Amino acid sequence: VVRTRFAPSPTGYLHLGGARTALFSWAYARHNQGVFVLRIEDTDLERSTPEAVQAILDSMQWLDMRPDEGPYYQMQRMDRYREVIAQMLAAGTAYYCYSSPEEVEAMRERARARGAKPRYDGTWRPEPGKVLPPIPEGRKPVVRFKNPQDGATGWNDLIKGPISFDNTELDDLIIARPDGTPTYNFCVVVDDWDMRITHVLRGDDHVNNTPRQINILRALGAELPQYGHVPMILGPDGEKLSKRHGAVNVMEYDREGYLPEAMMNYLARLGWSHGNDELFSREQLVQWFDTRHLSKSAAQWDPKKLNWVNAHYIRQMPDAELAARVAPRIAALGGDPAAVDLPAAMALLKERAETLNQLAQAAMLFCGPYQPADEALRAQHLDEAGRAVLHDFAQRAAALPDWNTEAISGVVHEVLEARGIKMPKLGIPLRVAVTGRKQTPSVDAVLALIGRETVLQRLAGI
Ligand code: GLU
Repeated sequence: VVRTRFAPSPTGYLHLGGARTALFSWAYARHNQGVFVLRIEDTDLERSTPEAVQAILDSMQWLDMRPDEGPYYQMQRMDRYREVIAQMLAAGTAYYCYSSPEEVEAMRERARARGAKPRYDGTWRPEPGKVLPPIPEGRKPVVRFKNPQDGATGWNDLIKGPISFDNTELDDLIIARPDGTPTYNFCVVVDDWDMRITHVLRGDDHVNNTPRQINILRALGAELPQYGHVPMILGPDGEKLSKRHGAVNVMEYDREGYLPEAMMNYLARLGWSHGNDELFSREQLVQWFDTRHLSKSAAQWDPKKLNWVNAHYIRQMPDAELAARVAPRIAALGGDPAAVDLPAAMALLKERAETLNQLAQAAMLFCGPYQPADEALRAQHLDEAGRAVLHDFAQRAAALPDWNTEAISGVVHEVLEARGIKMPKLGIPLRVAVTGRKQTPSVDAVLALIGRETVLQRLAGI
């Protein structure tokens, strides 16, 4: 059974790159009817915070990526790491190293001077027949992994293809600090092993960790997962995506009025493809997702395309559901979502909106306080001629048996015909008088939503 994991370090909000990696792991597990594990890598005590854990959980919930297992917390697994370290010491696959940090630095310096890669020189590495130096008094040792010294360590990366490192390039990694606490790469290994992870999809900033992790897994006799390293996301200017390019916090997109469905679609498409499909549902993503179509090259963040995708999901959403999502945003703007038939307003406004916030803003036409037109607008459009046209309109409108877009449109055309004028001569004064604005969506639909009583009242007041 396929088991994937998302293993964020809770040092801040979930950023777009992390969300995308999580999404790929989630989709791969779902596609294979496997298990998606969430693991919080919180061993960096200085930088990890409970708020960051919560932010990550919130973001995953917003995107509706539910883990099947977890969250596991590395800080709750310390005993297990210590246990494995003890086993490795006993098995001889790890050893105590008493070199001080200064001594190790000196070793590196000597290697640099020789033109070699700076590294630990293996002073404390036990070998058959080798006599180790006397243990310095009072010094606490680190534990190092006994990395193979010859050959190469490689894997067939699910995304990048074959990758290999000479073992001579890999130091004997410190797996426990002098105080006994395990180090990052070691925790990851024990976790992936214990959690029986079969597929590791993660950012390609971890490529250099992978051969070390593989060697430790082998020393433990563990089965190796398959690894896929996802290239990073670049900004529109080709630089690494950062705050400079706008929001990088996933939840910021919620605040700005992006739909999680759209975000998921856009993120999935960013670095993965299914033919020419740009728009797909969650179900289709799960059905189609594979690692073969993950891109080897970096993806480029494209805010315009995200807006296009979001606009699509807004148009597609049933009006009642859209209304429910927009209502709190209208209230946040100080409007009253109950002041109008909100689903009907959504139907009218959604064609032009790219975000929920834009929709809420547009809905303020109905939900916000009525602001009569300013003097300049009145002078230009509510002059004597304009007022005469509007009185004509008002009389006919008052007599309508039904108040709806079609009926109002009928009256509009009657007035145009009766007075021999063109649409702007009625449409603009009508908008100015009833809404205080020169521009609104289709005037008949706007009037229908505002309601006859209010419309007539405002027309009477000009
Ligand atoms: N905790 C690591 C990170 O947030 C991910 C480790 C992994 O996926 O192996 O970058």
